[in-house]
Amino acid sequence: MPRVVVTGGAGFLGSHLADALLGRGDQVVAIDNLVTGDVANIEHLFTNHGFTFIEHDVSSYVWVPGEVDAVLHFASPASPIDYLEMPIQTLKVGSLGTHNTLGLAKEKGAKYLLASTSEVYGDPHVHPQTEDYWGNVNPVGPRGVYDEAKRFAEAMTMAYRRYHGLDTRIVRIFNTYGPRMRPGDGRVVSNFIVQALRGEPLTIYGTGTQTRSFCFVDDEIRGLMALLDSDETDPVNIGNPHEFTVRELADVVIDVVGSESEIVTRPLPPDDPTQRCPDISRAREILRWEPKVQLREGVERTVEYFAKTLAV
Ligand code: UDP
Repeated sequence: MPRVVVTGGAGFLGSHLADALLGRGDQVVAIDNLVTGDVANIEHLFTNHGFTFIEHDVSSYVWVPGEVDAVLHFASPASPIDYLEMPIQTLKVGSLGTHNTLGLAKEKGAKYLLASTSEVYGDPHVHPQTEDYWGNVNPVGPRGVYDEAKRFAEAMTMAYRRYHGLDTRIVRIFNTYGPRMRPGDGRVVSNFIVQALRGEPLTIYGTGTQTRSFCFVDDEIRGLMALLDSDETDPVNIGNPHEFTVRELADVVIDVVGSESEIVTRPLPPDDPTQRCPDISRAREILRWEPKVQLREGVERTVEYFAKTLAV
């Protein structure tokens, strides 16, 4: 049975990845320091003999006893409000955490998958974003701590590939949503759903004409698994190519929830990307992957989750 280390294993994506890996018979060692992860996301796995949880910050030296076949580095604050609150931890987990986990993979002769991000494209001048676009990132702005950490992480991963011959993969993840996002995560889908369910006003930052392309978590995880199992060593965008304005998203959420909430505007955070949409030609061609869940259906499933979570 392959044994897979997932850093950020108690987080939103990490816990769904753990489910998918265990579901196909792999063993999973989840590592998380629980700053943004939550044991509630993995509680259901503690009775599974193939599952181990280690509470640890991967920015410090990482060791896992026994054989390891793959290391999936998903640990990082990933919401703008989190990395604004934890700028140095965000820089550390993207840099030192990547170095430590690459070191673990090298020592174990394991495959390595880096969770990178559409944020490496910054506020993009190329639209939709193809993997060969180098991006437009402000290194000294508040988002720079995440963007530059992930750009460094990609460079470090490629250096391990070129210098040590490590078997690496890099995924650039675009806005993903679904069950297990934290109610206070701060990202637009969870904010709008929680606000709508509570009958509070939906907070649109700026004019709401900025765009994002929202991928439902099940689709994202299917894409990540396909990349892990492929031979593709260059970065691959995994995201949903259907682009919506933030205002359109607000309308969908209000409609699905059947909420009376009004819409209010708040200042646009600095360096907030104006438009974002993945070009997924590579994923389609190489992985034979594309998302299946439409925004409305995904929002319905996420609303169901939050309705339950908020009720307890
Ligand atoms: N946003 C918003 N209202 C909110 C939260 C976010 O209008 O309550 C906007 C934010 O300014 C950005 C978009 O929604 O333009 C997506 O924000 P999110 O934090 O989800 O992710 P990002 O893509 O910026 O990392």
